[in-house]
Amino acid sequence: MDFECAIIGGGPGGLVSALYLRRFLRSVVVASGGAPRASWIPKTHNLVGYRGGISGVELLSRLQQQLDELGVERAVGLFKISKIRGGFRVNSNEDQFTAKKVIIATGITDHEPELGNVPALRRLGLLRYCPVCDAYEYQNKRIAVMARDEHGLMSSLFLSKFTKKLQVIWSPSARIPRELARRCEGKGLVIHHSNVEAMSAQKGAEPGLMITLEGQTKNLFVDAATSRSERP
Ligand SMILES: Cc1cc2nc3c(=O)[nH]c(=O)nc-3n(C[C@H](O)[C@H](O)[C@H](O)COP(=O)(O)OP(=O)(O)OC[C@H]3O[C@@H](n4cnc5c(N)ncnc54)[C@H](O)[C@@H]3O)c2cc1C
Repeated sequence: MDFECAIIGGGPGGLVSALYLRRFLRSVVVASGGAPRASWIPKTHNLVGYRGGISGVELLSRLQQQLDELGVERAVGLFKISKIRGGFRVNSNEDQFTAKKVIIATGITDHEPELGNVPALRRLGLLRYCPVCDAYEYQNKRIAVMARDEHGLMSSLFLSKFTKKLQVIWSPSARIPRELARRCEGKGLVIHHSNVEAMSAQKGAEPGLMITLEGQTKNLFVDAATSRSERP
């Protein structure tokens, strides 16, 4: 075997796995292709030890430097694995090696609205992806949740602890399970049964995001997050 462990995916999950294994004196390779989802984080505020926050790109760069110091090998590309006797074959179109064990740290793929300016709004921090990470910065703010399924509604209920100015954009065709609908109503959530037609960044004294819903004349406005230094 070329390595004791091959780690597929070079986001925080894969890089931290490599860090630990290398410090346990294991021979490891991180095989990764494509930008880690972590590189989309404009600034995270819930990572222990980073007072004032850190961007995803900076965090990944620091992790990579730590791995360089430990001499962790890297392979670049999209890899597949297949079982062989005593381990796994790991291969991309250009590269191939074997490993006794494999860690799959390939992350997830988001379901995003099909609008051209989604990456730009994400970079501005106006489009958020994680209630757990971001709710704190949205206390008493106007927010809208694009919920595709029950998980989205559960996230909305969680967020309703942080702000009462919460609206939910729900698919026009999907039904909300009765019990969940009752809970949402109890929390005063406004639910729009519509698709998002457009979103645009609003600058100036009241920065935020203007959301146009299909077939509705009135736009939704949601606030930008408040950073720690702005809070009284
Ligand atoms: C906008 C945004 C903001 C966020 N903010 C926060 C925050 O503030 N705090 C927080 O804790 N979390 C935050 N998150 C979540 C965080 O980014 C993820 O939890 C984290 O990136 C997960 O790390 P990971 O290593 O599992 O996956 P990823 O970071 O997605 O990395 C997986 C990697 O594997 C690669 N890969 C996939 N398939 C293959 C293959 N077959 N071969 C080779 N490589 C492959 C992918 O291309 C990618 O590079 C945020 C996410 C987003 C999108």
